[in-house]
Amino acid sequence: MENKTKAVKFGGSSVCDAKRIDNAAKIIAADSCRRYVTVSAPGKRFSGDEKITNMLYRAFVSTGDDFYSLLEKIKSRFDEIISELAVPVSLDDDFAELLYARKNYFGRDYFASRGEYFCARIFSSYIGYDFVDAAKCVSFGDDGAFLPEATKKRTAAALSKSERAVVPGFYGSMPGGTLKTFERGGSDITGAILASAMNCDEYENWTDVSGFMSADPKTVDNPKTIGIITYKELRRLSFMGAGVLHEDSVLPLMSGKIPIIIKNTLDPDAAGTRVVPERSGKENGVCGIAGKKGFSVLRVFKTKIGTSAADTEKIMRIFAQKGIYPVCVSSGVDCVSLTVPKSRIVGKEDYIRNEICACAEPSCVTLGDDCALIAIVGAGQRLSEVFSALDGERIEATSVDAGSGDGAITVGVAENDLDRAIKALYGKLIK
Ligand code: ASP
Repeated sequence: MENKTKAVKFGGSSVCDAKRIDNAAKIIAADSCRRYVTVSAPGKRFSGDEKITNMLYRAFVSTGDDFYSLLEKIKSRFDEIISELAVPVSLDDDFAELLYARKNYFGRDYFASRGEYFCARIFSSYIGYDFVDAAKCVSFGDDGAFLPEATKKRTAAALSKSERAVVPGFYGSMPGGTLKTFERGGSDITGAILASAMNCDEYENWTDVSGFMSADPKTVDNPKTIGIITYKELRRLSFMGAGVLHEDSVLPLMSGKIPIIIKNTLDPDAAGTRVVPERSGKENGVCGIAGKKGFSVLRVFKTKIGTSAADTEKIMRIFAQKGIYPVCVSSGVDCVSLTVPKSRIVGKEDYIRNEICACAEPSCVTLGDDCALIAIVGAGQRLSEVFSALDGERIEATSVDAGSGDGAITVGVAENDLDRAIKALYGKLIK
């Protein structure tokens, strides 16, 4: 057997019931290098089922009978797993505490974190690994910001006495002990934290698909699986909605250049996708396309605004004050245009327009052009093929950005054209 150390993460669908947990346990047993394990909360068992995390969020905002019956349902899902796996774990006291926790406002994140916490306790008992609470590993500051350095140190210390351990995904603690979760899908980040803190050779991320698809299968029939992709490319595709892995899960791995292997629990022998720090020259080529609706374009017109750093800075400051970030900025001589997520700007349109008028005195500000953005990752120099694919479908590109330095091209199209554009681009550049 290889003499490597691996961190391993099992997603919600891989631990949704006792059978799947047993399957995950077999995967761990098949390779003694799999020493540090993190798990999500049990996910959906069948279409129409509800993820435990969603039930916990719902329970948190429920009252009276609804609250009790939801907690009862959540408990019975865990009790069923416990009894089928025949592990010596009881969650009776924990659920009693959950009732108490809600009444005393321990917080929404505490509630949400219990899915991972219970699952990791059951899983560690089943495979005979130590249980180490993520509250002892993952640190957030008083302001809720994730603290990577402190986390690495605390995780290494918390795991130093464990030859093999299971740590719940998704959450950590703030000073004083209050629990705090990452964004949804954040167990991927916990897995990467374990890999980095324990200097692992690989981070295996086990999910229910055989790797990262080169396009959304809801849009493109049978898209190819990506064999190899870089950290940057993965971040770009994940940000654009390709949902296999949380985009921030590569961050803890960067300094150690630890590769991620995305694998399928239902098809463990499939090669999956390797996520690596850099590509070697031979592997260049388009590797994926992802698109997302919900962007608006703000245009500010003023003579020579494109050459005025002061005006651009004022606009950026107004955005920053309101938590709005532009995903694409382009400027001509007399116009600057900024593409921003629509969800960030709704309700603030008048404020933004008035502030820009007051600070930069433009001749005109327009906000509109609802659009979708498509990232074509690995496309590098193949701009002409991108235009020819869109042209063949008579789709107009409303914006183009090929200068982000990560080998990706981003094009804006009208929201209604999104699916057709992705199909055409896939046909031309990947198929
Ligand atoms: N259980 C959490 C969620 O559903 C975190 C995770 O699964 O990664 O978002």
